[in-house]
Amino acid sequence: MRILFLGAPGAGKGTQCKKLSAKLSLAHLSSGDILRDAVKNGTQAGLAAKEFMDQGKLVPDNVLIDLFREKLNDASCKNGFILDGFPRNRAQAESLDLLLGELKANLDRVIDLKTSDDLLEERITGRRVCPNKACNAVFHTKFSKPKKDGICDLCGTELSHRSDDKPELVKQRLAVYHELTSPLIDFYKAKQILVSVNGEGEQEKIFADILETLNQGSHK
Ligand code: AMP
Repeated sequence: MRILFLGAPGAGKGTQCKKLSAKLSLAHLSSGDILRDAVKNGTQAGLAAKEFMDQGKLVPDNVLIDLFREKLNDASCKNGFILDGFPRNRAQAESLDLLLGELKANLDRVIDLKTSDDLLEERITGRRVCPNKACNAVFHTKFSKPKKDGICDLCGTELSHRSDDKPELVKQRLAVYHELTSPLIDFYKAKQILVSVNGEGEQEKIFADILETLNQGSHK
């Protein structure tokens, strides 16, 4: 199965995609994680992306398209994949269509995770992430506290606060989402592969709703 998640920063895409990728054995391609990795490793893509990420702006389309072309051609995607955070504007969505057309691997379903902006701000600013690449677990200072303050439950690494999760950048990232990414809802609705899921409430309930929509038809 080939699935794309839409939703604002903080909507819970990362958490739900990880659960779904484990449940359905699908590759999980998170654009944010891929870019942060590239920055950490000092690759050419990372060097091109850093200044945009630091300002909460979109990284140039060609950087993302090149990265995803490489990832989608990898053997790990042959049995299906979940896209998380890419595409984020119309040009990227059109490039993705071309790329998937070449691979004969069109999307089966697009899931739009819906949440209100007030909740998003609280979710993003309280988010704490495990910087251990092999782990990448996500916690929240209020909604999903680690057992020991500031320490990852899974691997014991000290949690960090992403620099772009600080309040001053969150409004900018949400504005970018509303202006450039949310129009993709109509783009995929027109292809009749979009389903909407309420992204507010308990993680397990949201996950159950996602599984249910995947078992049903589209056009919700
Ligand atoms: P995320 O972890 O998905 O919130 O992404 C973190 C940052 O990476 C974003 O604020 C952008 O600067 C950059 N980014 C992630 N995905 C994309 C994309 N598809 N297009 C452009 N920039 C992106």
